[in-house]
Amino acid sequence: MNPSVQYCPNPKCPDHGKVNAGNIGVPSRKEKRFICRTCGRTFAATYGPPLYRRHLDPQWIA
Ligand SMILES: [Zn+2]
Repeated sequence: MNPSVQYCPNPKCPDHGKVNAGNIGVPSRKEKRFICRTCGRTFAATYGPPLYRRHLDPQWIA
């Protein structure tokens, strides 16, 4: 869980796809989710570089 390697998955967000833009926070570490402070969207920690895609949920693949 390292917010610095996560990026916003929202295509409409100005900071979409930017790593280390400083916009990613962790609202709830237990739920393994991140929040983009730029657009306010939360997303699962499975988003991100391939290194972090080992833990894909079946529902996410579908
Ligand atoms: Zn965003």
